[in-house]
Amino acid sequence: MTVHPIDAATTLYGVFGDPVAHSLSPAMHNAAFEALGINSVYLAFGSADIGACAAAMRALGIRGASVTIPHKVAIMPLLEEIDETARRIGAVNTVVNRGGRLLGANTDAEGALRALRSQTEIAGRTAVVVGAGGAARAVAFGLKDAGGRVTVVNRSVARGEALAQRVGADFRPLAEAVGLVCEILINTTPIGMARFGDALPVPAALLQPGMVVMDIVYTPLKTPLLAAAAARGCRTIPGTAMFVLQGARQFELWTGRAAPTDIMTDAVNAALAARGGAG
Ligand code: NAP
Repeated sequence: MTVHPIDAATTLYGVFGDPVAHSLSPAMHNAAFEALGINSVYLAFGSADIGACAAAMRALGIRGASVTIPHKVAIMPLLEEIDETARRIGAVNTVVNRGGRLLGANTDAEGALRALRSQTEIAGRTAVVVGAGGAARAVAFGLKDAGGRVTVVNRSVARGEALAQRVGADFRPLAEAVGLVCEILINTTPIGMARFGDALPVPAALLQPGMVVMDIVYTPLKTPLLAAAAARGCRTIPGTAMFVLQGARQFELWTGRAAPTDIMTDAVNAALAARGGAG
């Protein structure tokens, strides 16, 4: 492993969001740069002004950025180009600076698919996406594109139906989810974070042996859903898998190099452990 000193040739990357103090992206991407001996650093830029962030990318030659809440939609009109996936999802989480021209991409769908493929085929499988927010949209589009038979389950009927229609999926209100049978289930709601106690995003009766259950919540690492799923004989995928693999896709877009995903996973797990996993 070659660790580069910061010098006049060091290139800069970062995350734009508000807030970003708890972001795991700097630990993850800096570990990847270090592992491959790439002379770059990645910083967290907490800013409420996404227009100024985009201008700074051009002015300072920031090579690439992650974009997080609340800027994923607001950044879109500020970019020269938006790739097909980000356009269809309706949000950008990654910017690539090509000589002053900013290209927007969305790596969340790819991250979710790579995480799921570590455990299961997707084509022809029945998949339930719980939630209908921004993350659900990326996951549902990804699953449909990969040939999954998708049902969106959501608390609010209007939002759930709108997503299902946009993606070409079925819809079932959360209140009527009992009895739904599926092979893959993904929680994209925040239920599982500490503030929700041990609440589950779906009734435990939905969790059947052999199912693949992925939670995209990763603080805590072992959510009540993953614990209940493991206890009922499901195969489980933690939220850090999607997080690392969406980051791996970002890294590939920025550097053109294969991402060292094991090292990125270790860095994320170490950062979570350092903060007691509660995030
Ligand atoms: P969002 O746009 O606010 O959507 C949240 C969804 O959760 C909505 O569909 C909402 O239902 C539902 N929901 C919220 N509280 C609920 C409750 N008490 N009961 C039932 N449903 C509830 O949020 P988002 O941006 O999609 O993010 C969702 C979660 O994913 C966050 O925890 C975020 O940190 C995480 N995330 C993880 C990754 C990763 O890489 N692992 C990537 C992106 C996001 P209604 O429509 O009824 O309000």
